[in-house]
Amino acid sequence: MEKTIEQIKEEALDELKTASDIETIKALSVLYLGRKGLVTQFLRDISKLPQEKRPGAGKQANKVKKILDTAFKEAIELLKKEAAETDDHIDVSLPGRAVAQGSLHPITQINRQIFEIFTKLGFDIAEGPEVETDYYNFEALNIPKNHPARDMQDTFYISDNIILRTQTSPMQVRVMEKQKPPVRIIAPGKVYRCDSDLTHTPMFHQVEGLLVDENISFGDLKGILNTFIHQIFDTQTSLRFRPSFFPFTEPSAEVDILCVICRGKGCRVCSHTGWLEVLGCGMVHPVIFENIGYDTSRYTGFAFGMGVERIAMLKYGIDDIRKFFENDLRFLRQF
Ligand SMILES: [Zn+2]
Repeated sequence: MEKTIEQIKEEALDELKTASDIETIKALSVLYLGRKGLVTQFLRDISKLPQEKRPGAGKQANKVKKILDTAFKEAIELLKKEAAETDDHIDVSLPGRAVAQGSLHPITQINRQIFEIFTKLGFDIAEGPEVETDYYNFEALNIPKNHPARDMQDTFYISDNIILRTQTSPMQVRVMEKQKPPVRIIAPGKVYRCDSDLTHTPMFHQVEGLLVDENISFGDLKGILNTFIHQIFDTQTSLRFRPSFFPFTEPSAEVDILCVICRGKGCRVCSHTGWLEVLGCGMVHPVIFENIGYDTSRYTGFAFGMGVERIAMLKYGIDDIRKFFENDLRFLRQF
């Protein structure tokens, strides 16, 4: 061996001192520690030494290898750090930083689609308070105290007369109080019910619709809902109206759509009926018009209400409503 390992080390460290850029240091690293580098060669040549000297030389050479490796790496880090701290130095070779792109929550997306469909049909959007009085949420909608219909909704009470609204229907009353017919609104927003399972969350979104004018019939209601369902799903999605009961409409109906999964053949989602319930509707009960002071001999109207999460679950094939509110990015990124 021409040079001792100590000599190689000293030479390497001397050269490192004069190196002023990362490229030079990288080249030095190859020169000493690369596959054909001086230290590597030294290690290889140890086999030519007499037997008794081999362990000592090997140990020392490995130590030097480690020292140099650390020295080169630290020098490179230092230069990188200095470059980063110097403002006027821009490393144009660095890859660009990707801008993280967000997306709208699926409920926001469905909400916006619903708004768009109804505003094109001439409906205005009416928003109101989530903390509501018992009067607007129940009394004015023909649900007096002790009426059995109150048991249909598990209400969050703040006090005897103040509640978290269980539906967006109070907005119907608030709008009609201020406005003479014709009225054509949708009332979207959050509603609250004390309920939680696969298909219920304590907070969810509703869109309520109300149309009041002369000569409004159940046929108009069917036409509007047909148009809406065909736009939010597709034109193959037929509707079915089933008689039902709501205190604020008469007659009342629940609306089913042809199962979007099996197209009526029957599957697990539609409980093998081929139909899925999507919304409730009916002709506004005359009592409500009388409470407001509308002339019931002149005006008729219809109302409908739907859960936005329900529409989103059917449209996207989601089986657990709670997924919407768990903020799991793996779920949300799919939309
Ligand atoms: Zn089905």
